[in-house]
Amino acid sequence: MASVQAALHQGVEQLRTAGSESARLDAELLLAHVLGTDRTTILAHPEAGVGEGQMRSYEEALRRRSAGEPVAYLRGVKEFFGMAFTVDQRAFIPRPETERLVELGLERCIAMLTAAPRPADSSPVQVLDVGTGSGAVAVALAAALRRRGFHDTVRFLATDSSGPALALATENAVGHGVADVIRFREADVQAEDLVDGPYDLVLANLPYVPSDLVPQLPVAASFEPSVALDGGADGLVLIRALMEQLPGLLAGRGCGLLEIGSDQRHAVAQAADELLPGWEVSVHDDLASLPRVAELRPPRPDDRPVR
Ligand code: GLN
Repeated sequence: MASVQAALHQGVEQLRTAGSESARLDAELLLAHVLGTDRTTILAHPEAGVGEGQMRSYEEALRRRSAGEPVAYLRGVKEFFGMAFTVDQRAFIPRPETERLVELGLERCIAMLTAAPRPADSSPVQVLDVGTGSGAVAVALAAALRRRGFHDTVRFLATDSSGPALALATENAVGHGVADVIRFREADVQAEDLVDGPYDLVLANLPYVPSDLVPQLPVAASFEPSVALDGGADGLVLIRALMEQLPGLLAGRGCGLLEIGSDQRHAVAQAADELLPGWEVSVHDDLASLPRVAELRPPRPDDRPVR
């Protein structure tokens, strides 16, 4: 019987040869997955045995990973915002940079909930998550609010143009115990069928990769639904479609938080200037100090120019 150590050695060699930049981590995650345990356990027990059936499953996973399939799809799980999300080819895999969108959403929700005393009969803060995919943003935010004791004070509508993605998002909401505060609905930003406002917060990680750059993304991205990445000719087609709808979606003191590409700061500011004249626009950096989230706020009535 092969040992964990020998299996890891074989996996690292194979993945390195195939060009993986994270060969050791990938091999550890995949071996732990087929053994039904976690990385820490296999690292602590290098002498443990790997059964024949487990070895076959591991070799199959190594073969698929060598062909570029993302580790997250092979394991069926991706960690995001400290939580484990179910992932598969129905939706795009949540990226670490999108945690910034959740953090900002959480700050804005808490500010709204704590700015003034809230009578017991106050209506909940309303959040719209556009293009929810695996549901990671809405589910992580709902769970984080619940952990902070804001149970039932925030309600979500999460939309996506893909029915299969919404089914996955629903599984994640149920798995994390927040399905009671999130409604899911099939809707297409470009068809302008987002309704039911006003919302206090609109969050979106829409596709923003320019069409002709999609084929140049790392091979792992070719396993993901391309509609989740392809943002049209300049990458901003869906973001602009959402911007146009923001005035009709947002409550007066609400705000929009849109994830953008790190090179889109100026293009997004320009689009906002054209489509949302007078709105306040700021761009927040992610943990890698790259521009990542555009925040858009409607002008306050008293900020409007005097005629
Ligand atoms: N940042 C993502 C990537 O690298 C793109 C995300 C998106 O289009 N929303 O693949």
